Amino acid sequence: MSFTSLGLAPGIVRALDALGYQSPTPIQERAIPLVLEGRDLLAGAQTGTGKTAAFALPLIQRLSAAPARPLSRTPRALILTPTRELALQVHENLREYARHARVSSTVIFGGVGMGPQTEALRRGVDVLVATPGRLIDHVEQRHLDLSRIEVLVLDEADRMLDMGFLPAIRRILAMLPTQGRQTLLFSATFAQEIKDIAHRFMRDPAEVQVTPQNSVVATIEHRAHPVDTDRKRDLLLHLIAADSRRQALVFTRTKHGANRLSDWLEKAGVRSAAIHGNKSQSARVKALDGFKDGGVTVLVATDIAARGIDIDQLPLVVNFDLPTLAEDYVHRIGRTGRNGSTGEAISLVSPEEGPLLRDIQRLLKQDITLMPIAGYEASRALQMDASLKAARRPGQPPQRGPRPAGKPGSQRPGTPASRPAPKPARSAGHGGKDHRGQGGNRGRGQQAV
Ligand code: AMP
Repeated sequence: MSFTSLGLAPGIVRALDALGYQSPTPIQERAIPLVLEGRDLLAGAQTGTGKTAAFALPLIQRLSAAPARPLSRTPRALILTPTRELALQVHENLREYARHARVSSTVIFGGVGMGPQTEALRRGVDVLVATPGRLIDHVEQRHLDLSRIEVLVLDEADRMLDMGFLPAIRRILAMLPTQGRQTLLFSATFAQEIKDIAHRFMRDPAEVQVTPQNSVVATIEHRAHPVDTDRKRDLLLHLIAADSRRQALVFTRTKHGANRLSDWLEKAGVRSAAIHGNKSQSARVKALDGFKDGGVTVLVATDIAARGIDIDQLPLVVNFDLPTLAEDYVHRIGRTGRNGSTGEAISLVSPEEGPLLRDIQRLLKQDITLMPIAGYEASRALQMDASLKAARRPGQPPQRGPRPAGKPGSQRPGTPASRPAPKPARSAGHGGKDHRGQGGNRGRGQQAV
């Protein structure tokens, strides 16, 4: 299958050639013809599947087929993304794909001055890539008029909901024209709220799904190492030291935790940087560039900051803290195993995080192998019941429960350090119950960033 046979114009195919894209990915193969036909689209695709090109290429083609001089403040297409990193990434891709097309674009997001964004909007662009909050600010200040939007893309819709953007999205949708608008919604997971948006704001959407819902790429190997919280740093260092050139993206639950871990790794001699919502835009870009060019070996990130990180061939993702929301595991792991390359997803799981691991396994409908590492074994068994999770809020330190005395099937405290490691021990059963909606829609104040 070639890009030309999907119906894409020669100028676009030339741009893809220059990027080394030889053939469409499955989501591109399925979505592009539908979008070119003008259909609304509900696409189940996670980061790493080539989803950006799946909406950007037909969008560029549509706009350049009916060229018009960009009107001041009045874009023709709007791409909404949950974070500035993703907005920047999408915009960069868009510009590369539109290299030979007459389609102008700009990107707007919060955390930076409004002046240059206002100026770009005033000059006029065809495509606007934006995060919801800043977009509304510009509309309210009359820098932006959404009444002529022909195409709307909601990228990573599930993440926008997780971040509490549902009211903002509803407001934005209400500002758009309904007649003749094409709406494309991309999401890794489909909670009821997303289906509701699709039902209310889309016109008979075609549906494509490239991976089973809530599944992660098959080329990724998942492992969980049971370890006490206060031994996680040492274990991480042990795992990294096994191959000092191998880069890893490491997730922590809090910004503070990301800083602390990155500083500690630096002191231990590992070139490391942290990326999270409290860092300035330039600090984030610097950290990401350092990681991309290999100067940084370990990038420590929080969930939200990591959105949009696009690094080819990232071999290893480490969950230093398990995500509070099981869906975030899918997003985190989407950073590795891209486009058919193999990847490893390692989770360091303290006994208190057992319920979180159980939630992840239920969501994935897949067991994750538990592998104690000799010398770093957890001092007690993982607790897979929900009671501790219910008692805990994102950002709170894990609680230390009473030490159960060697239950049958539990990990033995003090397993001899001489055992070769790592060695598969057992898998924790996932119970098989569909666990969608667990944890629900986290409000903005509860973001685990
Ligand atoms: P995305 O899922 O949009 O974040 O894309 C993941 C990565 O795949 C990005 O680095 C893209 O540049 C790359 N990519 C997208 N489509 C293709 C393709 N057809 N062939 C090769 N690489 C691609």
